[in-house]
Amino acid sequence: MAGWVLNKYLFLIVCSITLIGCNTGTMKKNSGKENTYVILIGLDGWGSYGIQNSEMPTVKRMMSNGSYTLTAKNIMPSSSACNWASMFMGASPVEHGYTEWNTQTPIFETPTDEHGFFPTIFALLKDQIPESKIGYFYEWGGIGYLCPPDVLDCMEQLPQLSANKEGVEHIGNYIKNEKPTLTLIVFDEPDHTGHTAGHDTDAYYAKLTELDGYIHIIEQAVKDAGIYNDTIFIFSADHGGIGLGHGGDTPEERQIPFIMYGKNIKKGYNILSSVMIYDIAPTIAASFNLILPDVWIGHSVNEVYKKE
Ligand SMILES: [Zn+2]
Repeated sequence: MAGWVLNKYLFLIVCSITLIGCNTGTMKKNSGKENTYVILIGLDGWGSYGIQNSEMPTVKRMMSNGSYTLTAKNIMPSSSACNWASMFMGASPVEHGYTEWNTQTPIFETPTDEHGFFPTIFALLKDQIPESKIGYFYEWGGIGYLCPPDVLDCMEQLPQLSANKEGVEHIGNYIKNEKPTLTLIVFDEPDHTGHTAGHDTDAYYAKLTELDGYIHIIEQAVKDAGIYNDTIFIFSADHGGIGLGHGGDTPEERQIPFIMYGKNIKKGYNILSSVMIYDIAPTIAASFNLILPDVWIGHSVNEVYKKE
């Protein structure tokens, strides 16, 4: 309990500092593909197996009104940093060198962009559309090593985000005030609950329902920002889990949801093609008409987009 209070206190300090740091008050014009905005929301440890039995009204409404697959796959090992890196970098550990749970720098020499990183979707957007605005919000510190900070307009670690409505509202206020072109929000749950109470347990599903409430707050913030009709929401995860852990090759650990909803996305559409976690960055790039780096191996899941 004491730890929780301390963490909450630290969280408030972080918010107070970063609130000053991130809200510049300047409005930048979004000149992406005709004012398109993307919100990428990741839930750590959210296996596809958990969708059917979970009460997640916000996410399930977006699923039924959007495009999705529950057989998207992560890369091995089914651990965190190596998979978030693959999601952001359009490639697998063979290419980007983030190979383990907590890899903070590539374990071998890799191609780098002008920011000194293997190309990320964030750098791609910033380099090709410099006036775009990018927010990067995360709970687990390991996410902080997976993007060059200099391409981000706002980068904040928000401890305890998965149990803190104020933290989520803080991100919502950023969206309302800044109307970011691309926003990343990564919750560290339900992974922690999976490691303690267990995957596929009542506690796991209760945490998913709580997270769905936070996602609803983000959705409302996008509406309040006046950009809802121009926004694409994407939901996915780094891995699922089985028993008290993950890292292995079972479907419970490997299969992750991939859900897209919003502007120009087909409604009620079950994605047919095989989706890998490293296809997410190219799919985001397609929504902004960005040119892909040669070192990416992922492809855009083009079938989700309505024909224009
Ligand atoms: Zn994880």
